[in-house]
Amino acid sequence: MNTVINDIEVIKSKTSKINEVDFDHLKFGTVFSDHMLVCDYNEGRWHAPKVVPYQPITLDPSAKIFHYGQSVFEGMKAYKDVEDSVWLFRPLDNFKRLNISSKRLAMPELPEAYFMDGLNALLKVDQAWIPKNEGSSLYVRPFVFASGNGFHASPADAYKFIIATAPSGSYFSGKVKVLIEQNYSRSANGGVGFAKAGGNYAGQFYPTQLAVEKGYQQVIWTDDNTHEYIEEAGAMNIFVRINDTLITAPTSDRILDGITRKSIIELAQSEGIKVDVRKLSVHEVVEAAQQGSLKEMFGAGTAAVVSPISGFGYNGKDYDLPEMKETYASYLKKRITDIQTNKAEDPFGWRYKVE
Ligand SMILES: *Cc1c(COP(=O)(O)O)cnc(C)c1O
Repeated sequence: MNTVINDIEVIKSKTSKINEVDFDHLKFGTVFSDHMLVCDYNEGRWHAPKVVPYQPITLDPSAKIFHYGQSVFEGMKAYKDVEDSVWLFRPLDNFKRLNISSKRLAMPELPEAYFMDGLNALLKVDQAWIPKNEGSSLYVRPFVFASGNGFHASPADAYKFIIATAPSGSYFSGKVKVLIEQNYSRSANGGVGFAKAGGNYAGQFYPTQLAVEKGYQQVIWTDDNTHEYIEEAGAMNIFVRINDTLITAPTSDRILDGITRKSIIELAQSEGIKVDVRKLSVHEVVEAAQQGSLKEMFGAGTAAVVSPISGFGYNGKDYDLPEMKETYASYLKKRITDIQTNKAEDPFGWRYKVE
């Protein structure tokens, strides 16, 4: 059954899997909606995207994604409000960042219309998959990878852009204990740390496994040169509260320019919370912990929005953060999710209505 939505051709799946899904007990990113958006690049250009039934992809064993890792992605969430309107959060920023990532990996940049029209069409076709339960959302995963063939170590001549979606519950449950990394690095100057490249995650898994074996749930990444400055929390940006000031590292080659991070900075400042965007040394955090001025640490990213940290390990010693009733973490998380889900005014113009 073919139709056209927002100029995008739609090939509908013959059956729906939606009745097999328990929307009250959703995990994160484990069940997938009925459709996906697919867009092909070959002969030097992107061809018009299509919405098709969700299905496996067939690739040649020599496809360059397998050998040379040309792969970038984005993560966003779609929400449905009480009136069944569908909302995204700053999706143009995800589009722009996808192209920034692609460029760094010598991959072709997408036209804005293919991304935005395709995204809108896909969400309309699968709008029944957008959960309405508190804390749940439709997680949206746009990605681009090298589908072109050949063992020659050079950029591929063919790529695929796909958007797949997964109705999801909340990403993290509870606070995490983190290990400040003193040996491994997530990224380096001149590298690809600022890009949302799949390979950045591959490189994080092993050091994270080692931290888990030591009883921590997550790694705090420090700068690759000295390991003296705090940069990110796992695959999230990091905020540290000392007294009543929030501190986060400036973005750089090594740090991903998170949409949640920049939204938190703007929101906190507009509500009178002091935010310092500056280098933050491990030494300063340890000293603040010893003096009792370290109040909070939390990760910030689309999946969890805000992920509070209960304590950290450094140099073989553990430091606990205080238990507080009212935290910036929970306040800012609520403010952001209320804006995202159309429960609160959006003075910043961040919310985007899908139509
Ligand atoms: C995706 C990501 C973030 C968070 O970015 P958001 O736009 O807020 O989702 C932070 N750090 C890394 C390394 C990431 O990959």
